[in-house]
Amino acid sequence: GIDPVAARSAARRHDRAHVLHPWTAHAAFDPVVVAGAQGAHFWSEDGRRWLDFSSQLVNVNVGHQHPRLIAAIRAQAETLCTVAPYHANAATSEAARLIAEVAPGDLDKVFFTNGGAEAIENAIRMARLHTGRHKVLSTYRSYHGATAAAIAATGDPRRWPSEPHAAPGFVHFWGPYPYRSAFHSDSEGQECERALAHLADTIAFEGPHTIAAVLLETVVGANGILAPPDGYLRGVRRLCDDHGIAMIADEVMTGFGRCGEWFAIDRWRVAPDLIAFAKGVNSGYVPLGGVIVSERIAEGFAARPYPGGLTYSGHPLACAAAVACIGIYREEGILERVRHLGEAVIGPALREIQARHRSVGDVRGLGMFWAIELVRDRASREPLVPFNAAGAANLPMAELAAECKRRGLWPFTFSNRLHVVPPLTIGEQDLREGLAIIDEALAVADRHAGG
Ligand code: PLP
Repeated sequence: GIDPVAARSAARRHDRAHVLHPWTAHAAFDPVVVAGAQGAHFWSEDGRRWLDFSSQLVNVNVGHQHPRLIAAIRAQAETLCTVAPYHANAATSEAARLIAEVAPGDLDKVFFTNGGAEAIENAIRMARLHTGRHKVLSTYRSYHGATAAAIAATGDPRRWPSEPHAAPGFVHFWGPYPYRSAFHSDSEGQECERALAHLADTIAFEGPHTIAAVLLETVVGANGILAPPDGYLRGVRRLCDDHGIAMIADEVMTGFGRCGEWFAIDRWRVAPDLIAFAKGVNSGYVPLGGVIVSERIAEGFAARPYPGGLTYSGHPLACAAAVACIGIYREEGILERVRHLGEAVIGPALREIQARHRSVGDVRGLGMFWAIELVRDRASREPLVPFNAAGAANLPMAELAAECKRRGLWPFTFSNRLHVVPPLTIGEQDLREGLAIIDEALAVADRHAGG
């Protein structure tokens, strides 16, 4: 094996010399070298340890090193590590059966990918082939992945550098967001109504006959933990039906328990035509994503071949991990637990935090999917850092993240928000302790807030 002492500095040295990390300017980058992880904790080779309130990238839903997941991957490795996707195998078949079983409506067939972005690529391809149209409508406050179509559909600034190379026909609109309404509404009901009217207008002016899909994160993730007002998703479903547009739910972050449901969309009892999933399907132990497809759309590929594929579509190791992970969600009662802890622990704790800190403008979420939105001033709602802030302008958020880490909590921060997204299996004691750390660390943000 690898000598751990020799590996220590070597891991960092070789990383700095040879690894290009995503979204990172590498010259001054100095990553933590992770040596191990267990449950809701991970630690570095130099002995620092953190409570993981980010679930890495909101994907390690059942926590680190779950013994049952490890055993399933090990058993599959000993049986059949890999096979071409034109064969069938037991692990892939069983994963597809289980995913279809928990999916809403008549979504009954699964196209497997390696992750979320490829799931979005293929969902868009299917919608285009099904409708014979090309445009994709998605919201400004969204992230859909970093490959060609997924980044073009993304609404946040991560799209900008790729935009000059993007194909035409990606149109953005405003989704509902009561705290910062694009529609100047003053209630959830009004926000819902106006957001639907805005989407209806966007469809009309783009030309319904040109639109293949409306693509939505069911609950917006990185861009703010924005749960739609009741009635919004049903309204979107109706607009799609009226105009023959495919409805794609991006459940890459929200699917598989994060919101206390198999899919967040279940909460509003709406069935989309396509669901993109990844992350929580197997908690990221082996890369896996995919698209769950309705009967109607799958029917289109009954007689003609589906024009898309991947060498690792339905990879046995990844699918064996999905089978085990879905088993864990069921047998450990994770969905019920997530709903309970969200309502009984996280929500109340965040509302107390809001009352204690002048920098907290809004707290919101569901299940184990929450945001603390930070402001300079509660009355004006001026964000703690400007939109798309970098460098010195982002200092208040950088200081807050550093303070959380110093106190032993690894946070998920994005823009002017701190998200509370721990593993779904986190112990209640650890959860309360993490919320207490955030409470203390927020003194750093309060220093930048006036009102
Ligand atoms: N869609 C959503 C909602 C996501 O949050 C992400 C990743 O964070 C993606 C798509 C892209 O997934 P991946 O990074 O696996 O390609």
